[in-house]
Amino acid sequence: MLLCYIIFMNAIHHHPGKHPAPKLSPNQSKILGCLRNAGEPMSAYAILDHVRNDGIAHPPTVYRALNDLMKKGMVHRLESRSAFIACGDGACDGRFAFAICRACDKVVEIHLSKGDQTRLLGLAPAEIVPEQVTLEITGLCEACAPAQAAPV
Ligand SMILES: [Zn+2]
Ligand SMILES: [Zn+2]
Repeated sequence: MLLCYIIFMNAIHHHPGKHPAPKLSPNQSKILGCLRNAGEPMSAYAILDHVRNDGIAHPPTVYRALNDLMKKGMVHRLESRSAFIACGDGACDGRFAFAICRACDKVVEIHLSKGDQTRLLGLAPAEIVPEQVTLEITGLCEACAPAQAAPV
């Protein structure tokens, strides 16, 4: 009976995209579902508040599931806000950047090409061996730009 429930939960959260859905644990499914429903970045504690009713009560459980989801490319971390967001494409290979509206916090995922990433990593000076690029662009979204430009 329990197994049926787990399969059912995974089926609900299956994201129809070009990437096949990897197998998720019940906790991973719940947390991914929470982030996808939110559609915006959430702190680990905000996630914990949302999944508490689903039986996830401890921060380490949330962090473990988030780490696993990040390894699968289904959840990304917004470094500047210490927050997590569901991948805009279901899952991706980790070559991404974010554009963030500074007024309403709208976040749009940007996919980087292999060439983009190579060029960015190439900016590292000789004394630092580059491993990873974290790129977040802030600005104003289409909805917020006119409001900010309007005379007071
Ligand atoms: Zn992504
Ligand atoms: Zn905005």
